[in-house]
Amino acid sequence: MDNLQRKHVLVDLECPVCGSDMESVAHCVLFCPVAWAVWRGSPLSLRVSELPSSSFADFFDAMCTELGKAQLELLCTLSWRIWGSRNDAHWNGRRAHPQQIIEGGMNYLMDYQRAQKSMERGSRAVQMHSETKWKPPDERTVKINVDGAIAEQHRVFGVGAMARDHCGEVLATMAYQGRVVAAAKIVEAYLGNILLDCKLLMSSFLHCQVKHVRQTGNAVAHELAKRELQGEGDEFLRDEIPDYLAPFATRDKLSM
Ligand SMILES: [Zn+2]
Repeated sequence: MDNLQRKHVLVDLECPVCGSDMESVAHCVLFCPVAWAVWRGSPLSLRVSELPSSSFADFFDAMCTELGKAQLELLCTLSWRIWGSRNDAHWNGRRAHPQQIIEGGMNYLMDYQRAQKSMERGSRAVQMHSETKWKPPDERTVKINVDGAIAEQHRVFGVGAMARDHCGEVLATMAYQGRVVAAAKIVEAYLGNILLDCKLLMSSFLHCQVKHVRQTGNAVAHELAKRELQGEGDEFLRDEIPDYLAPFATRDKLSM
């Protein structure tokens, strides 16, 4: 918030949760009375007001050296839930009780850990593959190629994805362009939670496998992401293929 204000973007500087103080990431996630109560009442039992950190990044750095893996997972989940409840207050006027945030976070983490265990047991592990050309999935499976690209100096990122069947027929194409708005360390902290979401969603499929492939085996998604980065592509999700991608998809089909 204070960053946006420095850039002369008009924002509401009052915290939507407690209605006082100038809102900043540190206030929202650490020092707001609701956040403070979450940290104090959670199994981490942290007294954030006694910590030397004045920014969320410093707090996160300090905790990384102090806490173990399981505690850090809880810390990331609770930070994300506190941020979510701040958004809920801002956009929907809803106020969550600290205990609700703690229980919601702990339930979410338990679901995630269960999903993680079932993935370790099953066939859903992430695999490294050296596929140098596109390979079709089997008959009952849809293959989605995904790629992302980032231009740090312009603070822009692009994401592209294409879903195809076992014949190499295109089922859907997606492209998205976004702006990097938060400090890298905070982005990293929240990326962990996006991964949690992906893993939970994956666990709802009967069979789901993630593979890393070489760029030559991922040409369509790479091209989509690159176009978004250059600002040449528009954002879309559709069941057809953009003209500029046709040669890449045809090449994949011919290599089958
Ligand atoms: Zn507040």
